[in-house]
This record gives sequence, C-alpha cells and structure tokens, in this order.
Amino acid sequence: MAYSDTVRKIFGQEIEEIKSRGLYKEKRFICSPQDATIRVEYPEGAETTEVLNFCANNYLGLSSHPEVIKAAREGLESRGYGMSSVRFICGTQDIHRELQTKLTDFLGTEDTLLFPSCMDANAGVFEAVLGKEDVMIADRLIHASLVDGIRLCSAEYDTFKHMDTKHLEKKLQQHSDKRARMVVTDGVFSMDGDLAPLDEMVALCEKYDSMILVDDSHASGFIGKTGRGTHEHFGVMGRIDIITTTLGKALGGASGGCVSGRRELVELCRQKARPYLFSNSLSPVIVAASIRVIDLISKTTERRDKLEWNTKYFRERITAAGLNVRPGETPIVPVMLYNAKLANDMARDMYAEGIYVIGFFFPVVPAGAARIRVQLSAAHEKEHIDKCVEAFRKVGNKYGILGLDKNGIIEKYGM
Ligand SMILES: *Cc1c(COP(=O)(O)O)cnc(C)c1O
Repeated sequence: MAYSDTVRKIFGQEIEEIKSRGLYKEKRFICSPQDATIRVEYPEGAETTEVLNFCANNYLGLSSHPEVIKAAREGLESRGYGMSSVRFICGTQDIHRELQTKLTDFLGTEDTLLFPSCMDANAGVFEAVLGKEDVMIADRLIHASLVDGIRLCSAEYDTFKHMDTKHLEKKLQQHSDKRARMVVTDGVFSMDGDLAPLDEMVALCEKYDSMILVDDSHASGFIGKTGRGTHEHFGVMGRIDIITTTLGKALGGASGGCVSGRRELVELCRQKARPYLFSNSLSPVIVAASIRVIDLISKTTERRDKLEWNTKYFRERITAAGLNVRPGETPIVPVMLYNAKLANDMARDMYAEGIYVIGFFFPVVPAGAARIRVQLSAAHEKEHIDKCVEAFRKVGNKYGILGLDKNGIIEKYGM
C-alpha cells in the first residue's frame, strides 16, 4: 500500500504537471485500415467518425494497398509469422537477404542491414562505427532517434546551425585533427518539410575528408525523380556513406528500418550494432510485403508523381485561401499559426469538419512556431484536397487569420 501510494503521489504529480502545461497527449484510435479515409474514435469512448486523414506518413498510399496486403499474406503462408530470434542467432531468412539486396539497389549503396525500426538503426549505427578518437557533427534539428543514437556513442559530439553549410565548414575545419568525422543530418526534416542541401554538404565532406550520414525516413520512396530519396534529388547518389531509413512511412508503413551504405560501415553494424544483435528480427510478413513495395515503386513512378501533383496542388490552393504556409516542395506542409492554443483549437475544429490534422507546438517545435502540419499522400484524390482546403478556409475565417502574415497572426494571438 505504502509503495503504491508513493507511486501515485510522485508520478501522478508529474502527469498532472504535463497536463497543466497543456502537453498531455490524448488517446486516439483508428478503427479502420490506414488510408485517405479512416474511421476514428476520438475522444476515447466517442462514436467513431469518418474523416479524411492528412496526418499520416502514408506518403505513397501503400499502407493498405491490395498488392502489399497480398504479398504480406503470401509471406505469412510461405515463411510463417514470427522469427523468435535475433538476426545473429537464427533470425535471418532468405527473404531478409532479398530485401536487403533490393534496398541496396534502390538506394544506390553498397550494402544494407535491416533493423527492427529506424529508431533502432539510429540507436546502433554510431556506437558500432565510431569511437573516442572520432567526432559526430550534427545539424541542430536532427530527429530525436539520431540524438539518442549519438548519446550512446563515445565519439565527440558537435553541432552546426540548421542547414547552415558555412557553419558546417567551420566545424569540419575545427575537427580536422580527429581520426574520422561524420556529418549527421535528416534528408527531409519532419517538422518544416525542408530538404538538407546535400549537394553542398557532400562537397564539403569530400573536401574535408568526412563521412556523411543521412536519415532519409521522410524521403525514401518519393523524393527525387524516381523516389530514391534526398540524395537523388540533389544528384549525389553513391556519395552518401550511410543512409538510415524506415519501412514504417512511405514504404508500406508497417515497421522496420535499415542502415545502408559503404560495405565496411554496414559490416561493422552487423558485427556490433546492439539493436541488431539484441532485438528480434523483422517478421516475414513485413519483409515479404516490403519486397513487393520496392518492386512496385521500382517499376513505376506513378505514385510518387501523383504525390508530387497533390503536393503542388495543395500548396497552391492553401496559399490562395489565405493561410500562412512554409514554402517548400515536400508533402510536409506546415500551416503556420505560431500560437500553441490557436494551433490546438484550429486542429479540433478541422476534425469537426471531417479533416484529421494535428497541431504541433513546443517542445516538438520551437516555442512561438506552433503550426498544423499537413501531410499529403498519393492516396488523396483532388476532391479530398479541395475539402481540406475548404475546411481550412472556414476554420481560418472563424479565427480571423485569413490573409494575415506572421506578424499579423502574432499581433492577434501572441506567440
Ligand atoms: C520516423 C522517423 C524515424 C523512426 O522510424 P521508425 O522506423 O518508426 O523507428 C527515424 N528517423 C526519422 C527522421 C523519422 O522521421
């Protein structure tokens, strides 16, 4: 009794604090497959409602694609349900090898190693490759999973200002005495949807004899003319030392991740990366479906082309409707609202209009940079996008922010 009272008191208080700061994450339930149209139970216990989904990472609309589901079924039949083993004991099937080879070809690298997730790939890769005599130089806005991986590694850690290649160059000069240097960045940054300038970054890395690691989770499958990723977009395929990416977003959206790149670096991960050595292997169901995904998107760029069209169309329409959108070209479109409560209130009203979007605010984005992040998908049809824009127009009008720029919105609502 005494023990559980203590638990309630100490940790219950922390939860209350999270709530009082407006940071409590509510439960939401999708009661249908993940798709453009979904049924959602929100808040918990409410009747389910049908909404258009504009907040999933289902960029290519493959999460519920019939071909992918069929491949998953075939994988289940031919290779069973689970591996009940980590990779280095008896958790590798022929289809794991096949998927690794396909990913290597698709990403244009030398070798690939599957992990249970990209979070795990990032957790394992730094410690496996680098040591005390090395340095990691990371963009200041890298994904949380890269930050965690970096924390687990004994190499020195330094940062450069977000996408600031001048600053990066200074840091590379500063660390010229280290055994090895590794520049670390996201390919596409998930909150702003901006692209790391990989052409300039790779040139700098080559000039200063540094490796570069790119986490392309928000790019693999759809950025670049044939969807290979940010390195294709910037014309630097074959010049990235390590790509980490996820199968849990555009590439079918189930789970799984990988480290792909230079042979020696991937081999070191195979020997030493702890999530590879000590966490269970990907299910054959996921592996078989992922193979089909790579086949589908290697054969035709139809889905990434449709996503590109949808993105352009949405960006045009939403800007014309008078909302303040961060310019860019990726399907991550932040509708800037600056004020956290405004972002939250508008997202709730959008939901009532049948559009599922989420407000993001501190600490997920910098204080005073609250926004609703819209994510486009190849699963969206033109009329879905029209509905979304119309809802933004209606809700934006209610809050009197249409046509206002940053200063106008901040003047009205504060940061
Ligand atoms: C989503 C994401 C991850 C995590 O991927 P999982 O496979 O879901 O663990 C890692 N890095 C970045 C940049 C991401 O956006």
